[in-house]
Amino acid sequence: MLVVQKYGGTSVGDTDRIMNVAKRIKTFVDRGDKVVVVVSARSGVTNALIERAKTLNSSPDEREMDMLLSVGEQETIALTAMALHSLGVKAVSRTGAQAGIFTDFAHTRAHITEITGGDIRQCLDDGKVVIVAGFQGVDREGNVTTLGRGGSDLSAIALAAILKADICQIYTDVNGVYTADPRVVKNAKKIPEMSYEELLEMASLGSKVMQARSVEFAQKFNVVFEVRSSFNNEPGTIVKSEAPSLEDVVISGVALDRNQTKVTLSDIPDRPGVAAEIFRELGEAGIVVDMIVQNVGRGGRANMTFTVSKDDASKAEKVLKKTCAELKGGTVSLTGDIAKVSVIGTGMRSHSGVAAKFFKVLADNNINVQVITTSEIKISVGISLEDAEVAANVLHSAFNLDK
Ligand code: ADP
Ligand code: ASP
Ligand code: MG
Repeated sequence: MLVVQKYGGTSVGDTDRIMNVAKRIKTFVDRGDKVVVVVSARSGVTNALIERAKTLNSSPDEREMDMLLSVGEQETIALTAMALHSLGVKAVSRTGAQAGIFTDFAHTRAHITEITGGDIRQCLDDGKVVIVAGFQGVDREGNVTTLGRGGSDLSAIALAAILKADICQIYTDVNGVYTADPRVVKNAKKIPEMSYEELLEMASLGSKVMQARSVEFAQKFNVVFEVRSSFNNEPGTIVKSEAPSLEDVVISGVALDRNQTKVTLSDIPDRPGVAAEIFRELGEAGIVVDMIVQNVGRGGRANMTFTVSKDDASKAEKVLKKTCAELKGGTVSLTGDIAKVSVIGTGMRSHSGVAAKFFKVLADNNINVQVITTSEIKISVGISLEDAEVAANVLHSAFNLDK
């Protein structure tokens, strides 16, 4: 069997854990599998590198940022290979470039354009475990790029797709995907099987257990994968295109995202095309806009509030100042960090009353809603950070997810 495994930051957090990972890999080698391993940087390393960059420059050049951030994964591929050698297992490390992971030029959030695999197949045929640096690729000019935060998940899924792996395992620090973040909601339950669609929605709504783009990729190439713990042998969560969903299960999970900032545009000209212009400029800057509210215009002027990821806030402010100047009107301000809490469930398509219950539960708990957004399978609201944990817990039990 050809097995692709990915180990996240906590799983390779120190040398003892790297040795445990090596021992687990050895069990697959011993049973005759060919193994490709993708590793993340040690937990905290990528964040520490970002902080260090920002002490020197508040908006560091993105090419240099990628050069810096790719270092974290290069440490762990080498150490994992060394740990395997000490167990007598043949292994070799490969950077993203050496693994032929080609991307576009969008530094810090690059998209994969092609994967050749480099000499991975040859190394496997020679009986070696191949350890690939997650999160990184290379553009057509040879510059190192990175695939967005949490991007090692994408490296693993993409390699599994291209190598036609029989098994793809995502090892992390929880036993699988739960009905809510088990660190926030103590009664959260592990979901044995789920569809790409549901996990994609959860991931996009801020449950960082899998990078959203990686789930999208898996869906596109039909890569079945399992999310499981690197600390035990319990079965995890199988993610595939169709998962059995119980008739009466309307809501499958609650997601919490504490990383949103509100941006308010005041006194913008109230005429057709203005919103289009605003969101076009943000889109071109690679900024994803989330929840939006616009009030009724008065005297030819309107106000608009929306949320962006906290990481994009200052960039959004810069872009919008320029847009306001071009529109000859409007002021921009960052109006506070908020949390987004969402309930997700494909069953919402065919059941009514979810919204009514959702808002009643929040009201009963005195939680004020600032912005709202919905789709046919989710409801999300922006609320104050202080209310976030309570909201996740009360919604989780109101929709019987702890049963
Ligand atoms: P890794 O370093 O292995 O990629 P991450 O920290 O990126 O791990 O993702 C795992 C974390 O995701 C867990 O520790 C957990 O706190 C968080 N998480 C958020 N939502 C969920 C969920 N619904 N199910 C499981 N874990 C979740
Ligand atoms: N090290 C990268 C990050 O922290 C990629 C990953 O862990 O998946 O975002
Ligand atoms: Mg992750």
